[in-house]
Amino acid sequence: PAPLVDPKSPQAQQLGYVADASKVDKAKAPKYVAGQACSGCALFQGKVGDAQGPCPLYPGKAVLAKAWCTAFVART
Ligand code: SF4
Repeated sequence: PAPLVDPKSPQAQQLGYVADASKVDKAKAPKYVAGQACSGCALFQGKVGDAQGPCPLYPGKAVLAKAWCTAFVART
């Protein structure tokens, strides 16, 4: 499995990646809506129920299903 995104990496910092979506700072990420997470993001490449999976914005890394970043797009 791919290594997890390091929240301190430049890419993660630039996109406001937070490993636990429930801890998103709404002052820094006003578009965050409670309940959003990678597991419900259109870009998340993991399967339903997976704890982590690839995201094309973080090549070679895995993001946590319970994480969130400012590029979130709700899956429809
Ligand atoms: Fe998670 Fe979506 Fe951001 Fe990728 S783009 S890290 S799946 S919220």
